[in-house]
Amino acid sequence: MAVCDVLRCQNQPTERFITNEDVFMEAAVCGEHMAKLSAGEGWEYNGMDRELVMGSDLAPALVNFEITECVGNGATLTIERAGDEKPYTVWLSEKDQREIAAMFY
Ligand SMILES: [Zn+2]
Repeated sequence: MAVCDVLRCQNQPTERFITNEDVFMEAAVCGEHMAKLSAGEGWEYNGMDRELVMGSDLAPALVNFEITECVGNGATLTIERAGDEKPYTVWLSEKDQREIAAMFY
């Protein structure tokens, strides 16, 4: 019997979640997950395993970030993630910054 395309969900799919954004994607999902998807809950599609990743299976969400620019050839990025006890920092070279920016646009 078919099961919902959301990772770890064993419910029977009753709806189709379809996106026509950058990449067309269609998944068979249960009513509970369709409600969450319709409400805008975060998701990722793992095309390799043809499953939707949601909830605690997603990486922690970004809560806040700050970039501290100093004299030098890079910048310090401070990131706060949901569920973390304290923020962490990474130093980004100018090359890192360009590569990250290019991934989003
Ligand atoms: Zn489901």
